[in-house]
Amino acid sequence: MTDNDKTTRTTCPYCGVGCGVLATRREDGTVTVAGDPHHPANFGRLCSKGSALGETLSLDDRLLYPEIAGKRSDWDTALDLVAGKFTEAIRDHGPDSVAFYVSGQILTEDYYVANKLMKGFIGSANIDTNSRLCMASSVAGHRRAFGTDTVPGTYEDLELADLVVLVGSNLAWCHPVLFQRLEAAKASNPALRVVVIDPRRTATCAIADLHLALKPDTDVALFNGLLSFLAESNALNKIYINRFTEGFHKSLEIAGPCEIGAIAEATGLERRDIALFYKMVARTEKTVTVYSQGVNQSVAGTDKVNAIINTHLATGRIGKPGMGPFSVTGQPNAMGGREVGGLANMLAGHMELENAHHRRVVKDFWQSPVIADKPGLKAVDLFKAVGAGRIKALWIMATSPVDSLPDADSVAEALRVCPFVVVSEVTRTADTVPFADVLLPAAAWGEKDGTVTNSERRISRQRPFLELPGEARPDWWQMNEAARKMGFGEAFSYGNAAGIFREHAALSDYRNGGSRDFDIGAYKDVSDTHYDSLPPFQWPQAAESPPADTRFFSNGGFFTEGRKGRFVPVAFQAPRRRERAYPFILNTGRVRDQWHTMTRTAKTARLMSHIAEPFAEIHPDDAARLGIAAAELVEVKSPHGSVIVRALLTPRVRKGEVYVPMHWTDQFASRARIDAVVAPETDPHSGQPGSKFTPVAVSRV
Ligand code: SF4
Repeated sequence: MTDNDKTTRTTCPYCGVGCGVLATRREDGTVTVAGDPHHPANFGRLCSKGSALGETLSLDDRLLYPEIAGKRSDWDTALDLVAGKFTEAIRDHGPDSVAFYVSGQILTEDYYVANKLMKGFIGSANIDTNSRLCMASSVAGHRRAFGTDTVPGTYEDLELADLVVLVGSNLAWCHPVLFQRLEAAKASNPALRVVVIDPRRTATCAIADLHLALKPDTDVALFNGLLSFLAESNALNKIYINRFTEGFHKSLEIAGPCEIGAIAEATGLERRDIALFYKMVARTEKTVTVYSQGVNQSVAGTDKVNAIINTHLATGRIGKPGMGPFSVTGQPNAMGGREVGGLANMLAGHMELENAHHRRVVKDFWQSPVIADKPGLKAVDLFKAVGAGRIKALWIMATSPVDSLPDADSVAEALRVCPFVVVSEVTRTADTVPFADVLLPAAAWGEKDGTVTNSERRISRQRPFLELPGEARPDWWQMNEAARKMGFGEAFSYGNAAGIFREHAALSDYRNGGSRDFDIGAYKDVSDTHYDSLPPFQWPQAAESPPADTRFFSNGGFFTEGRKGRFVPVAFQAPRRRERAYPFILNTGRVRDQWHTMTRTAKTARLMSHIAEPFAEIHPDDAARLGIAAAELVEVKSPHGSVIVRALLTPRVRKGEVYVPMHWTDQFASRARIDAVVAPETDPHSGQPGSKFTPVAVSRV
């Protein structure tokens, strides 16, 4: 360190753990990073991705100037065109003819401006986000059970628990620092047991006392059976059920009697393992059930979430130290987006689009000419509408749907036929860039200024420590300027991120405080200086009465009409039968050292060296039957598309199933975009795609 080195306290841009990072800019221009010892998410820890952040900051392939039709332009001309085309489409075809598709990578302030512009000034709710692919089922499940999208617990609960059940979560690779915390807690507390429920034997199983490798999409059968078992073994908290909840008996009736044999048949699990799991839960008061994409990314995702929550309501194990259902989000700011209405079916401040009173509150606060009065198109349907010609102007920010949405080739085709596509991006290598009529250079991590919210509702600052290169600008600024050019100037006169945050905090408090969960009114008058130094905090933080404990629901107080937690009856539906031509079930997911479509993580050799190329995990017995040798190239094919990847023969996957990582795009390996293979089927409640269950064929190339 020299006197001229400067350290900035900021937040990691990758996963939903939301670790605090100390970024030090050295005199020679290099940047080194370390974990922030004072950040309550990580207390100084970082994972491999976070600790390599300093190696990802080069300007190679950066977009530095606005472009129109592939030629360099300037902001004024580019935004004139954007504003003109959106205005024209709205005039000629109505507000629902335009759309924004944003991202859990953008900051809360960016999200706020995007939602305000689309829902309050354009008058459509056609703004959805790649967070739809991440946690929409948790949002829907929370709202059904709690009345709002509220995560009841905190990270600390994993350390205080005596039993942590991880469902559809490879915590070791997808939320590594949270896994490190759990690992440390297990080392210091011999009573702590870990159960992993996942069709694959993932790295997380290294600390599992029990691994339940259930058949894909059979979680509802397992958790309905648990609810019945709890009832039959006298493990219910009847006082909690009677005082604070409703609908228990109906849910129990739908769950049916606890027939371990039938549950074993449905889930493919051993009877003794099911019985052992049920007994562990029944006997352990301090139980946390952590769930992630294996639960959410399913056509039954919302039902799975509610089946899990039902067991916590039945035992009253919610909102108390070491107890509760806990959704961990994939992205760095999926939660922040939820808070400002980032989904097509939500309004800002956790208010609801379907609720006339909430619409009036938001419209009044914004003093907006209109307010969207019906939910917009959710991600998969949005791009179907683009392909069908119903969307005339589309603005995509910080995400590459041609790689990450299911049936990705159809998404590319939809962009090809869309009359006007705006892409705000950091890198020229993003696969959505070639489809842009207008390309806008966005600020990247290290340059951005704003806030993110992690999985435990903790709002942290992302602070800039690098100058904006070329003419790159923050996403909020781009929308602010476009809105002004569309004639909405008065409402879009933000000078900095702090001003947007103040308005966001004030809306959370406006005629709303006390009646709903999301309230950060304490920050509505935060000064620019205070915002700059804002320490991480958990919501709620109401203006008048900051809470002593930010856990929710230990003593009821749900946000439903009657203030009672709702049991949601969920019937198990066996996953659909496989067609003979597609006998395998494809599961997709992350690897430890890559992030999304690798535009940042592929810049560092040490992250690339973890797993150098895409692969398909295949059970050795299946491989032998198909004549596939280890490391041979195989084709994984569905009716939607195919990839060619290397066979990795391993009993980690169940027979009849195949696992392919989601990260590789055509830039990094030819024909490896696995989302081109994934079926565009969605959960009926959440609209989240079932990215972990696509019938496929596997063959030697
Ligand atoms: Fe970043 Fe997540 Fe790793 Fe923390 S655990 S350093 S937030 S990627």
